[in-house]
This record gives sequence, structure tokens and C-alpha cells, in this order.
Amino acid sequence: MQDDLARVLFDEATILRRLDQIAAEISRDYRERELTVIAILNGSLIFMADLLRRIPLPLKLDCLSVASYHGGVETTGELIFRQVALPDIAGRHILILDDILDSGITLSAVRQKLETAGPASIRVCVLLQKKKLRRRTVDADYVGFEIEDEFVVGYGLDYAERYRNLPCIGVLRKELITGSS
Ligand code: 5GP
Ligand code: MG
Repeated sequence: MQDDLARVLFDEATILRRLDQIAAEISRDYRERELTVIAILNGSLIFMADLLRRIPLPLKLDCLSVASYHGGVETTGELIFRQVALPDIAGRHILILDDILDSGITLSAVRQKLETAGPASIRVCVLLQKKKLRRRTVDADYVGFEIEDEFVVGYGLDYAERYRNLPCIGVLRKELITGSS
């Protein structure tokens, strides 16, 4: 699997060291407020598991399943919520967790939808943030790493549902992406 990468950007030890820092920041910020984490599936699964085990606070966890990609490398611009009902978040302090902030379409749609349910506060935490002009303005309050505008896989991030179980994050070789030459 790792042979399919053109470059490794962050190995497992580097990722986990950064998670120690973000977890410490979150733990400090939510010391006096009960935290409710909403993780966006499937991409944030591995990130969520490693991050939350580093936060020694009482917290609640819910997941939201959304999709916008349909197997390609570019967003379609349209977000599908797979849930019928949203978690009950009225009056709660919400931290949304996602794998990567790219066009911003996913996080702005999720944030808007959660806002209608009357939470006490909403913050956003992403493992990766691409340096680019976004189609939607969303600010992440906690960011693991900033990366260039390249397609990455591993540590939860997929290409056509593969590579999620790679322990590192890397750039997929161009010739493996269907439709590129
Ligand atoms: P956005 O809505 O911000 O464009 O994209 C968010 C979703 O698109 C992410 O949660 C992720 O699933 C997917 N995505 C965006 N960029 C990448 C990337 O470089 N690699 C992978 N594997 N998925 C990405
Ligand atoms: Mg994805």
C-alpha cells in the first residue's frame, strides 16, 4: 500500500505527537464545559480514535455520516446527509471533528445544519487543512497540519475507499488516480 504513495507527508509518530498537542489544547479549553464531539464519518475515524483517547475529560460522542465525493478526487459540491435524525445537541458544547478541510463545503454544511439544533457553542477541529482559496468560508479552531493543495490518503483518508488503514499520510501517485495521465 505504501508503495502507492509518491511521498509520505507525516509518519505515524509525527501525527501522534501533534495529536498530543491538540488534545492538550482542547482539554484546556473545555475544562469547565461538557464537551460533545461530533465526528464526521468515515474519514475522521482513525483521527477521532487517537485524539479522543488523549483528552482526559468527560465527553459525549456522536457521529455524522455525510458524502460529497462519490469515489473521485474532486468534490461534487453537493453534500448528502446519510442520517435521518440529527443527534440531540441542544444546549451542548459541540466540537466537530473532520479529517480535512478542502473546499469547505462539508464543514460549512454540517455546521449550518447543527446550528439549527440550538447548541451552546460550535467549534471545528480538523487533522489537515489545505492551503487554498475555499469555496465556502469555514474556520477551523484546531488544525493538525496545513498542507499544499494535493490529494492525500492514509490515516483515515481514502481514495475510492482504499488506504484508510495506512498509518501515515501521503500523496497518492498521480498515475493511480483514474482519469489523470
Ligand atoms: P470539502 O467539503 O472541504 O471539499 O472536503 C471535505 C471532504 O472531502 C473530506 O472530509 C474528505 O473526505 C474529502 N477530501 C478532501 N480533500 C481530500 C484529500 O486530499 N484526500 C482525501 N482522501 N479526501 C479528501
Ligand atoms: Mg472521503
